[in-house]
Amino acid sequence: MYKSIVILTGAGISAESGIPVFRSETGLWEQEKVEEVATYEGFMRDKTKVHAFYNKMRTSLKDKKPNPAHLALAKLEKEYPQKFGGSVSLITQNIDNLHEMAGSEAPIHMHGELMSILCEHCGARYSYQEDSSVVSECAMCHHKALRPDIVWFGEMPYHMDEIQDLLVKCDLFMAVGTSGVVYPAAGFCSLARQCGATCVEFNLEKSQVASDFNYGIYGKASVTLVKAVDELLEKGTLSHQA
Ligand code: NAD
Repeated sequence: MYKSIVILTGAGISAESGIPVFRSETGLWEQEKVEEVATYEGFMRDKTKVHAFYNKMRTSLKDKKPNPAHLALAKLEKEYPQKFGGSVSLITQNIDNLHEMAGSEAPIHMHGELMSILCEHCGARYSYQEDSSVVSECAMCHHKALRPDIVWFGEMPYHMDEIQDLLVKCDLFMAVGTSGVVYPAAGFCSLARQCGATCVEFNLEKSQVASDFNYGIYGKASVTLVKAVDELLEKGTLSHQA
């Protein structure tokens, strides 16, 4: 049995729900330069363009549904502690809301959320479903200083203290659908493993940091992760399937 299971998800887990991954040829990200829409400098250069980019992404979420991989993680979070004790924590790099829609209680959104907004004037972060623009007013301080609540390249991810604490204490670390290119998330496995956790990656292919893991399970997360969660809920452990 594991005392503390930590899962890190990336864009790959939402790919089968129809949300393009970072580096897909058809994705929104491919149509725009990262430095223009995912850096603070880009926002300062053209706020209207950056608001429009995230408005489009937020709108595109409206017809998206969680897939079996999101649902399996929500089931694991609920049923593993009931059956075997211990804890299951979910950290996501994703800015979509599919973990919540699947029933996950409190995924840690380290890179922010499309369904949230941040006020640059008063620092408030709150739930937000509409389109934002340079003239949108903060609901708290009424300044026209809203920006997408997204952690851009060069900015500090949210909840890093909590995440570090989880990583050093966990005994099973699973990374799902993440390329291992974006730091600090790409370094999470290395820290968890140094602290004694068994580390398993789920991906279509070996990620950039595959050698940091004990082993990987390759294929679509909607199949591989569902199988692994079934095994965890049945036996309490994960057998080596590499
Ligand atoms: P990434 O796009 O760099 O990598 C996605 C990984 O998922 C790849 O390694 C790919 O092989 C794998 N993958 C694709 N389909 C899969 C499937 N069906 N099953 C298992 N694995 C699959 O994504 P990243 O590592 O998360 O980094 C990109 C950054 O961009 C993140 O920080 C995230 O904030 C952001 N982003 C978020 C979303 C979202 O919220 N859904 C989408 C795109 C990008």
